[in-house]
Amino acid sequence: MRVAVVGAGIVGVCAASYLQRDGHDVVLIDRGEPGDGCSKGNAGALSPGSCIPMSAPGVLRNVPRWLLDPSGPLHIRPAYLPRAIPWLARFAAAGRARHIDSLADALRALHRDTFDNYAPLAGNAGCIDLIRRTGSLAVFKTAASLAGSQREWEIRAVRQVRQQRLEESEVRDLVPGLGAEYRHGILLPDHGFVANPHRLTRALADAFVGDGGTLRRDHVLGIDMESVDAVWLRLDGGDLAAERCIIAAGAWSARLLALLGIRVPLETQRGYHVMVADPNVAPPLPVVSADAKVYATPMEHGLRFAGTVEFAGLDAEPDYRRAQALVPLAKEMFPDLRIESATQWMGHRPCLPDSLPIIGAAPGHPALILAFGHGHHGLTGASTTGRLVADLVAGRPPAVDLAPYRADRF
Ligand SMILES: Cc1cc2nc3c(=O)[nH]c(=O)nc-3n(C[C@H](O)[C@H](O)[C@H](O)COP(=O)(O)OP(=O)(O)OC[C@H]3O[C@@H](n4cnc5c(N)ncnc54)[C@H](O)[C@@H]3O)c2cc1C
Repeated sequence: MRVAVVGAGIVGVCAASYLQRDGHDVVLIDRGEPGDGCSKGNAGALSPGSCIPMSAPGVLRNVPRWLLDPSGPLHIRPAYLPRAIPWLARFAAAGRARHIDSLADALRALHRDTFDNYAPLAGNAGCIDLIRRTGSLAVFKTAASLAGSQREWEIRAVRQVRQQRLEESEVRDLVPGLGAEYRHGILLPDHGFVANPHRLTRALADAFVGDGGTLRRDHVLGIDMESVDAVWLRLDGGDLAAERCIIAAGAWSARLLALLGIRVPLETQRGYHVMVADPNVAPPLPVVSADAKVYATPMEHGLRFAGTVEFAGLDAEPDYRRAQALVPLAKEMFPDLRIESATQWMGHRPCLPDSLPIIGAAPGHPALILAFGHGHHGLTGASTTGRLVADLVAGRPPAVDLAPYRADRF
């Protein structure tokens, strides 16, 4: 079957790779190079135990404080506020206590097998070295802040996420050079990271092409649904017909669907990183400052500090003051760090209000399969999403119950 995949971020590349393994004739389309969108500069964490919705009560109660702090993890550009308010209202509603358990179950189901589902793809692409099962460490400055996250650890524990409380001396032994203010730690031994998310996405795309897939660099301008079994894509460089089409265009997916009259509440939560190419400190695993919500990840090409959420839409220029705000936090985490020459980056997290992606057929269009909205955990969720998309196209029972991710839930 001819299958078109729109978007060569990590989600689209994983979907294309799994579809190819099923023997389909797959065309992967991106207006840029594979992996140059949000999948390029993320924190790299692979978090099978991530199951806390972004709007969980413990998160929401911090929002006013974060908004007042210019270097805090959350910023809303004043001019964008009127557009963000309806989405934020839905976001807050999704955080009501009665929703948390079902959202946490769905997040856990999507993330649990991330390593297993990357293994065949990365093995085939010759880049399994990028995927590291080191564990990850959340660090806290005060007993009060550790206690404040208690509910999150309970949600994880109920879902069999292994987590281990570390004493101050154990934290120091594990991460030499960590700032003395960080006194408490929780180790997630089954977590890990990708040592270069950009190279991973590109290597998987290269293997896809090497195995006979077509990578087309082109801009999808429109989609026509010819029948229940045919999709017509309008591209800059000429049209393309396919029997199935996967929309994996990350934060831009809603714009494509709007052309078909399908509305989804997809918002971009812009995130930033600063990257120190030749760091003089080397944590052996990703370390996340639970208070500042900043990851420090030891990439193969430097130490990356990533985080922050900015609401400013898809079209506004990056505000690199948000990246610069990460520098003092990096110095706080690693006081000896020399950070004179850091590079910076901004990416668009594709976010739906309930923190779950959409995975499934578009309402009324069985040939159009949606796979976007993975938010803060898209690198983690991409490998399983790729498998699920292939299951849907093949008509196999999916490895994960897809009901929580359906498009018409909003
Ligand atoms: C600062 C930061 C830190 C993060 N840290 C982590 C982390 O530690 N762990 C984790 O699991 N996740 C993390 N994430 C989230 C993760 O990066 C994203 O969820 C994921 O990369 C989304 O992948 P994607 O393939 O859906 O989108 P993208 O990578 O953005 O890919 C979408 C692609 O679609 C293409 N496209 C769009 N429209 C069109 C069109 N009309 N025609 C052709 N092509 C089109 C774009 O060019 C782009 O290449 C982080 C994100 C940020 C910003």
